[in-house]
Formats: sequence, structure tokens, C-alpha cells
Amino acid sequence: MWTIGFIGLGVMGAPMADNLVKAGFDVVGHTRRPGGTDRLVAAGGRAAGSVAEASRGTDAVITMLPDSPDVTSVVLGADGVLMHADPGTLIIDMSTVRPQTARLIAAAAGDAGLAALDAPVSGGEQGAIEAALSIMVGGALADFERARPVFEALGSTIVHVGPAGSGQIVKAANQLVVAGTIELVAEAIVLLEASGVDPGRGLEVLGGGLAGSTVLARKGTAMLDRRFKPGFRVDLHHKDLGIVLDAARTAKVALPVGELVAQLMEAVRELGNGHLDHGVLLRGVEHLSGLNR
Ligand code: NAD
Repeated sequence: MWTIGFIGLGVMGAPMADNLVKAGFDVVGHTRRPGGTDRLVAAGGRAAGSVAEASRGTDAVITMLPDSPDVTSVVLGADGVLMHADPGTLIIDMSTVRPQTARLIAAAAGDAGLAALDAPVSGGEQGAIEAALSIMVGGALADFERARPVFEALGSTIVHVGPAGSGQIVKAANQLVVAGTIELVAEAIVLLEASGVDPGRGLEVLGGGLAGSTVLARKGTAMLDRRFKPGFRVDLHHKDLGIVLDAARTAKVALPVGELVAQLMEAVRELGNGHLDHGVLLRGVEHLSGLNR
């Protein structure tokens, strides 16, 4: 069984690291948050005091960090993964970052005699806990096959989607669809409530028809109840929509609804909701409708 360094034990990383331990991997975790490795140690993993310690003597290093600059500094920085990992180590970045960042890391890893995969995920905290994530993987096919047992311990839909950076492009498409769908569920709730129709019953029947979706099933009730504890923070989805629009410009395509949803996400963020779950797009619809509660 591989020894896996795991850097970034947050909402997603902590349950993912637990699942690797459960699957029998030797997991050595590091995260910036004080006390952030306690859970992993209780689950049977090991704590590392630094990126260097989580990188040395491993077969693979997984990063699950907030944003592109975090991944760049942790992997490529002066005291980063590339400086300390053994030749042949596989770097698997599972964060959502810019495709350019994934390509940069793959090239630098190759130059240093290591290999890298971009393997962002979808399925949220629940998917991470249940080891039911969708994992979209970019990089060399042989490296993907090498890492397959790792992915199988974390997810249920595991697809190699192309060369380095492709996983992040697919993830951008995912975030576009999720943001747009949440916005429309929010608008549906506001319409139902303002029209005097029981919104719970309304959503129940929507869920059984063509309007049904995983977003509606997983988030509808919490949105109705105005429960916005993350889950997935607006700040992170705002970051992801920046990646979507950047990718659209690079690919020279127009994504008009994506542009609009990015503006709406920006607006709820500026209204002070950045730390809340993205279901809080509902508050933006209420705000636009003069229905602030
Ligand atoms: P989070 O903020 O909860 O966790 C990030 C962790 O990284 C924190 O524990 C932080 O201490 C640690 N960290 C940050 N910089 C570090 C550094 N330099 N060295 C060591 N540790 C460092 O974020 P999250 O919700 O777990 O998301 C992680 C990534 O996964 C993001 O890119 C996000 O977009 C993506 N993602 C999140 C979800 C979700 O539902 N939360 C779903 C899919 C993908």
C-alpha cells in the first residue's frame, strides 16, 4: 500500500484523508490550521508538521487547497513538495484551480523527475464523507492508472478526461452548471413563496419531473429553511466562476448565462455572504425582489 502525503485537511480534505486511511493507505497529513491534523491522527493517520514532512518518503502527495496561489506555493515554492518528494512521486492536485496552474505543475513535476495529475472533484462535503465523489482527471493515462486505487478510495465516478489541465476544464464546466442550477432553484423558491404556493410541495413535484436535479435534491430543503452553513462557500464558487470565465475567454467562446451567474455570485458575496453556502444565492434573488428577511 502506498504512503500518501495529504496537504490541506479542510471541509473536503479531512474526510478524504479519513477514507484513504480506511482503505488501508498510510496517510501523512499536513494543514495550516492549528489542530487540523487531530482528526486524521484519531482515524489512524500520521501528522506532519510541514509540507516537507508530508512530501518526503511518499508514493503520492495529494493537495486539497483553496486556490491556485495556494497550490502553486505549496507545490512549487521554496520549501514545497517538488523540493522534498522523492523522484517518481505522483503529485495529485484535487483542488479546483486554473487549468494553467495544473499545466504549470505538470511541467515542473516532469522537469524534476516526478509526475502530476489534476484531479478536481465534485460531490461536495457529503460526497467526500461517503467516498462518492466524481473525480475528473487530467494527465498521462499511465499515471492515472497508477493512481486508480487512490481514486477508488475517494470516489465512485472516476474518469480520465485528457492531458494535464483537462480535469480543471471539466471542473469549470461542472461549476458553471451547478451555479446556474442553484440560481434557478433560488428563483423558483422565491416565485413559489411570493405567489402563495407551498414551496415545499412545489419543490417536491419539481424534483420528480424534468426540473429534478442533484442540486434540487441536496440543497432545496436547506434553501427553503434558509440554512446556509457551508458546504461549499460562496467565496470558493466565486473563485471557480472566475476560472470559468477565464477558460471561456481562452477558448474564445461566449457563455452569457455563466457571465450573469458570476455577477450574481459576486453580488451575494459583496452583500456579506462570502463565508456562507452557495445556496445563499437565494438571498440575492430576495434582495433584487425587495424581499429581504
Ligand atoms: P477549506 O478552506 O475548508 O480547506 C482548505 C484547507 O487548506 C484548510 O484546512 C487550510 O488550513 C489548508 N491550507 C490552506 N493553505 C495551506 C498551506 N499553504 N499549507 C497547508 N495547508 C493549507 O476548503 P475546501 O472546502 O476543503 O475546498 C478545497 C478545494 O476543493 C477548493 O479548491 C474547493 O474549490 C474545492 N472543492 C470544494 C468543495 C466543497 O464542497 N467544499 C467541493 C468540490 C471542490
